[in-house]
Amino acid sequence: MADAIAVLNAGSSSFKFSLFASVTGQPSVVVRGQAEGLYTSPHFVAKDRSGAVVDEKSWNAGTKLGHDGALDHLVAFLRERLAEHRLIGVGHRVVHGGAEYTSPVRVDASIVAALEKYVPLAPLHQPHNLSPIKALLERLPQLPQVACFDTSFHRGQPAVAQAFALPKEITDRGVLRYGFHGLSYEYVARVLPEYSVRAAQGKTVVLHLGNGASMCAMAAGRSVASTMGFTAADGLPMGTRCGNLDPGVVLYLMDELGMDARTIEKLIYQQSGLLGVSGIASDMRTLEVSKDPRAKAAIDLFIYRIGRELGSLAAALGGLDAIVFTAGIGENSRGLRERVCRDAAWLGVEIDVDANARGDACISTPASRVLAFAIPTNEEQMIARHTRALLGPRTGTSPHA
Ligand code: ADP
Repeated sequence: MADAIAVLNAGSSSFKFSLFASVTGQPSVVVRGQAEGLYTSPHFVAKDRSGAVVDEKSWNAGTKLGHDGALDHLVAFLRERLAEHRLIGVGHRVVHGGAEYTSPVRVDASIVAALEKYVPLAPLHQPHNLSPIKALLERLPQLPQVACFDTSFHRGQPAVAQAFALPKEITDRGVLRYGFHGLSYEYVARVLPEYSVRAAQGKTVVLHLGNGASMCAMAAGRSVASTMGFTAADGLPMGTRCGNLDPGVVLYLMDELGMDARTIEKLIYQQSGLLGVSGIASDMRTLEVSKDPRAKAAIDLFIYRIGRELGSLAAALGGLDAIVFTAGIGENSRGLRERVCRDAAWLGVEIDVDANARGDACISTPASRVLAFAIPTNEEQMIARHTRALLGPRTGTSPHA
């Protein structure tokens, strides 16, 4: 019987899951899928590695299945599906591990309680990340669970990169720049030697451009600076998040527009970014095909801010050997990659337009002083690796037991 690891990435109204078998130590996906619309129109789908649907279920509109109900369906599905496998544990993506969790950790009730402390630092993510952990601790207490943090990869940054210029007593309370998307950056750092030794060992900026977007400066594969800060609202504009914001704007919104904290939270996390600027959509595909000038304005602002951050991160590194595009937009939007590379010509990036249009991994010309790549990320695989490493090959109890 092959060992298997389930990976869960839970959001506010959906979760993604994957089941990795680890026969030879190389995690490979057996089945993956998602449960969406958990509080509106629930829908569950699971696909095998060839993309064929192996399980699908829809609930009536208005059904409030919730995370727990969807998790019950997933567990039942895995039980059926797992006849050939022995589930040795579940790995979870958890957005915030604070200053404390510098690496993945096996979770129990006391660790969950400690992780609840970070809910105010990631109000839109952390509660949902923790919810399936709590549900599984109740339902299957013998099943080992591992939390893998988006912040851990950045904990080795120099102190100066993590500090805000605030009074020491506030910094000492943990008000620091944490950085996020660490599992994605860690995955890219892990595979980068397969693409370029120079990029892997040198000064490289990785651009994780998805619904959430950030950039990370890496020296020899280690994070030295990130565009994201105390929360995942900092840095680049994103699908619905505003990114960098003068703190004076928040005071203005409170004093002059009478907004309270929750209204501002909604504004900066859910109503801003590409959606807010365009007034049309948060989705890059929709904006790229739109003729509306506001869609163009939103994309222009996104690209402008990427360019500014690239200069800043190159300064943090003291030079630049490579840039790497990843995540939904970075991996797929050729037009955006081309514009970002052209804007970065001053840094030594020369794009190979044909290679970029073909979708090659290396998209810089042979003469380019700075290498450029588009590399798919795989946060789930990183979580499966960490979970397996922490649990070892032969621990835990299968829910079949
Ligand atoms: P998440 O942060 O939710 O994991 P993803 O990494 O899946 O997000 O990225 C989602 C973003 O990627 C969306 O803005 C989507 O429009 C964009 N995207 C996906 N495919 C393409 C494409 N072919 N061209 C342009 N943008 C794309």
